[in-house]
Amino acid sequence: MTRFVESTITFPYKRSLGPVVGMFMTALTEQRILGIRNGTDVIVPPMEWDPATGAELAHDFVEVGPAGTVESWTWVPKPSAQHPLTHPFAFAFIRLDGATTPLLHAVDAGSASALSVGTRVAPRWKGTRIGHITDIDAFVLGETPEVAGPDHGPSETPVSMMEYQASITYNNPVPVAADRVVEASKAQRLLGQVCPVCARVYAGGRGYCPIDAVELGTEHEVDLPDKGTITNYALVTPVQYPGQTETEPFARVFVLLDGTDVILSYQPVIELAASDVHVGVRVAAVWASPAEDIDEGAAMGGAYGALIGWMPTGEPDHTDPDLVNRIF
Ligand SMILES: [Zn+2]
Repeated sequence: MTRFVESTITFPYKRSLGPVVGMFMTALTEQRILGIRNGTDVIVPPMEWDPATGAELAHDFVEVGPAGTVESWTWVPKPSAQHPLTHPFAFAFIRLDGATTPLLHAVDAGSASALSVGTRVAPRWKGTRIGHITDIDAFVLGETPEVAGPDHGPSETPVSMMEYQASITYNNPVPVAADRVVEASKAQRLLGQVCPVCARVYAGGRGYCPIDAVELGTEHEVDLPDKGTITNYALVTPVQYPGQTETEPFARVFVLLDGTDVILSYQPVIELAASDVHVGVRVAAVWASPAEDIDEGAAMGGAYGALIGWMPTGEPDHTDPDLVNRIF
């Protein structure tokens, strides 16, 4: 059975809102929903520009709703961690009273059978509002707005910035060949695969030759040398974003394995200061001891399995000027 690894990338995102969206967000903290006039239309949420012509719109705001009519909807039976509600709900286009465009938001309807095109809904406000579209917790059935929990009132200052965490989770299958590479690393072996057609050698358990579209199996496995030369490198100065654990500049290097065309990319270095890293340094693989915890993840770039990095051998530098052209 195929093994999967789950990886989540999360990063903070901050943007200035500008005069129009800022006004909309500030009004949300006051439990008011604003649109903007565009000729005979009222656009909600308000935009700075006419979506049809790109012409700048006058800041002619109109309060709409708070109730509105469902124009179309889709039921979400199994909400994910990123959805606004933890139980089944609908995403709906809601035409707020007085608006000519629909607003996309969640409707907490209890069940799909409670919704139809034309259903009347009203906002359920959060008690604590920060100037974000989620200040509306969800829309509920009926004409009457609600507040969830104690009402902490509007923002004391106009809302000008918005922050949120962007997050995406990947669920990747791990190729059998990659698992074998990790297994071999525990015996301090660097496993490669040689293509029977073009004779190219691949490391990291790729499992196929991308040039010939040939699947590579156990019969194509070869042991690779555990010594090589740095052909390229990147020095990373860590930015202290949330979740960053590195504080000092560090290197990631590309290692050309001796006697092969195989280059391992983005490898960590050990006992080699970032300021001393240069093209031509001779290095040898460093393996975790059997007692150490190792990363069982997929072998795609970086250290993997029991291979934890590369350490200088102390040999003289490799001075071939063509080394810098060996990137991959
Ligand atoms: Zn090939």
